[in-house]
Amino acid sequence: MKPPRFEYAAPTTVAEAVLLLQEHESEAKILAGGQSLMPLLNMRLTRPGLLIDLGKVAELKYIRESDGGLAIGAMTTKRTVEDSAMVKSRYPLLHAATLLIGHAQIRNRGTVGGSLAHADPAAEYPALAVAVDAQLRAVGPKGERTMAAAEFYVSYLTTALEPTEILTEVRVPALAKDTGWSCAEVARRHGDFAMTGAVVTVQLGSDGRCAQSRIVLFGVGPTPLRAQAAEQVVIGQTPSEQLWAQAGQRVSEVIEEPLSDVHASAEYRRYLAQVLTRRALAEAAARARGAA
Ligand SMILES: Cc1cc2nc3c(=O)[nH]c(=O)nc-3n(C[C@H](O)[C@H](O)[C@H](O)COP(=O)(O)OP(=O)(O)OC[C@H]3O[C@@H](n4cnc5c(N)ncnc54)[C@H](O)[C@@H]3O)c2cc1C
Repeated sequence: MKPPRFEYAAPTTVAEAVLLLQEHESEAKILAGGQSLMPLLNMRLTRPGLLIDLGKVAELKYIRESDGGLAIGAMTTKRTVEDSAMVKSRYPLLHAATLLIGHAQIRNRGTVGGSLAHADPAAEYPALAVAVDAQLRAVGPKGERTMAAAEFYVSYLTTALEPTEILTEVRVPALAKDTGWSCAEVARRHGDFAMTGAVVTVQLGSDGRCAQSRIVLFGVGPTPLRAQAAEQVVIGQTPSEQLWAQAGQRVSEVIEEPLSDVHASAEYRRYLAQVLTRRALAEAAARARGAA
């Protein structure tokens, strides 16, 4: 199908784009890489009167280290993240999650900001952002504000962004010392959205016990789901297969109503969440020990 008729604007600065959003508010939509928006337009599931293409806004395309973490401009493509030697060596969780997103062609066009703002419940980046306490910066008519990822995700395809705000940057902190990670998922075919996935970190203390852990599921609810009850099962304990299995069991108990759709039933997703949590914890702990 072809998209409905729309006007098109290609600003070259964030300020210009915000002004356009303000003038056309409910009529306008930001166009980033178009990898989610164009299918929605073609299926006529959205009918914006104006598309504001951020493709020419050069100030939104960068990856740099700052304040002990990574700052990524919203219009940076996933391919740029994937190809960054710095990301690969110092932010391997981000690198691994990026490789799980769609196909190479999608990562060539799709942007970091687009994935974070689109807030697909089965997407890797939102779950990663919650797992590592990423900060999201937005600019609107009232100026700039920064939100924690945990506050940013409100509901299915819905974020805390105001209609006149643009997501401009994500800040990804480096993982703490002796922290291992895993991004595990099950998809029907290579490149498909995950039916369910887990982003997990485990920090080992000097006594060999789990000092900290984060467990965030995706594809099971309307937003990334942080399983704090399962984290509590792990923290303070000595790593073991039995412990990972207990945490997986806890995850399956705390997911209230897993999504159910043509791709997977609620019960299958609950099962996947349990298995993926167990596997991801084992992998993260092995990485923390330097064994993976
Ligand atoms: C076949 C296929 C497989 C895919 N598989 C995966 C997958 O496995 N995992 C995954 O995570 N994604 C997957 N995707 C989606 C892909 O990652 C998209 O790139 C991403 O969802 C949106 O990024 P985009 O830059 O293309 O944004 P667009 O499609 O241009 O925009 C998406 C939405 O975000 C809004 N938006 C974009 N940028 C901003 C901004 N800076 N500020 C405010 N709002 C903004 C737009 O208005 C729009 O509503 C897949 C897509 C396809 C077609």
